[in-house]
Amino acid sequence: MDKFEGADFYILDDVLTEEQRLIRDTVRDFVDDQIVDIIDDCFMEDRFPNQVIPMLGELGLLGANLEGYECAGLDNTAYGLIMQELERGDSGLRSFVSVQGGLVMYPIHRYGSEEQKQKFLPELAAGRMIGCFGLTEPDYGSNPSGMITHAVEDGDSYVLNGNKMWITNGCVADVAVVWAKLDGRIKGFLVEKGTEGFSTTKQEKKFSLRASITSELHFQDCRIPKSNMLPEADGLGGPLSCLTQARYGIAWGATGAAMACFDAAKSYSLSRIQFDKPIASFQLVQQKLAEMFTEITKAQLLNLRLSQIKESGKMTAQHVSMAKRNNVHWALEIARSARDLLGANGVTHEYPVGRHMLNLESVKTYEGTHDIHSLILGHEITGIPAYK
Ligand SMILES: Cc1cc2nc3c(=O)[nH]c(=O)nc-3n(C[C@H](O)[C@H](O)[C@H](O)COP(=O)(O)OP(=O)(O)OC[C@H]3O[C@@H](n4cnc5c(N)ncnc54)[C@H](O)[C@@H]3O)c2cc1C
Repeated sequence: MDKFEGADFYILDDVLTEEQRLIRDTVRDFVDDQIVDIIDDCFMEDRFPNQVIPMLGELGLLGANLEGYECAGLDNTAYGLIMQELERGDSGLRSFVSVQGGLVMYPIHRYGSEEQKQKFLPELAAGRMIGCFGLTEPDYGSNPSGMITHAVEDGDSYVLNGNKMWITNGCVADVAVVWAKLDGRIKGFLVEKGTEGFSTTKQEKKFSLRASITSELHFQDCRIPKSNMLPEADGLGGPLSCLTQARYGIAWGATGAAMACFDAAKSYSLSRIQFDKPIASFQLVQQKLAEMFTEITKAQLLNLRLSQIKESGKMTAQHVSMAKRNNVHWALEIARSARDLLGANGVTHEYPVGRHMLNLESVKTYEGTHDIHSLILGHEITGIPAYK
């Protein structure tokens, strides 16, 4: 396949800084050199490409928009471009980086004690430690406030009991950020690998995000030192603020997956001959390509403006909901349309389109389903919550 060149119809490169373009191109090259050739095997074999974890650290891609503690301290546009390029490779790769940065390093950075920050953040930034984020439970997904997992104070410790499910990187994590109720209030706890009473089970048989590890976490009288609670996190706002960070990355990332699908569909349409002509010469094919290109351009504009309002400090969770909802929806539509244009070849791993399409089904569901984001926006527009 030809080298990926991206899609930039509205010349957005002109509004990026030289540094942002350089970062984008560096990650694009990394994905071409280290990911493209191996990711289908990882997907088929249900494993993450562990060999790239130190490289992600060396490139400064883990917690890239956090300041200090050996994090890269990049601006939010550069951070978004990183997510876009990683997910152009695979949603599982972007998920790894989103979880590590947005869901593990961010809560430690924002809510952790100085001791916790010193201990964990440099290790996580370098990829020497892997983290996971445990919020979802078997019976509480869209409604995490009902969680059953709870902590009880006992001398110098907290004792955790409960189960988490669908946790990215759960069984490979060195540290789990676990959300549990303490006297009825949601609090964040850092549970380290090997702690007695903490075990994990790998979730098998996924047809989506197969190049990403998903696990259950089990806590049975799991005793952790009191110093492992995040002191500044109190209530559901704690985990929700982390999800806002990760959803921001998803909005950009899904656009990268859409760009990969568009790229494959365009080059295939130009080379595939049917009825003595490239299929790209048929109006119905051009209509599909025009729709994909337009929706990618609209998603890019949404992302860029979102990054500006994030940078200005005015970004709300609702702003992020709109971009996550829209961009993932259209990425999935684009993947399905690209799959269609590839005909029978679209159902093989010879092309990345089917893999992206399957991955995006998870991306649509996690970090707030499409419909939950509709409700968040509906609440914002009308002032009326319609969750219950
Ligand atoms: C591959 C993968 C990785 C994941 N990684 C993580 C992770 O690292 N950490 C973590 O904590 N979680 C993770 N999740 C879990 C994910 O965030 C949840 O799956 C998601 O929040 C949805 O919860 P649920 O699956 O229980 O679906 P449910 O909440 O049961 O929803 C099922 C359906 O009902 C709809 N629905 C629910 N409530 C309403 C309502 N009020 N009104 C209208 N419709 C409604 C939903 O939109 C959906 O269509 C992951 C999930 C996947 C698939």
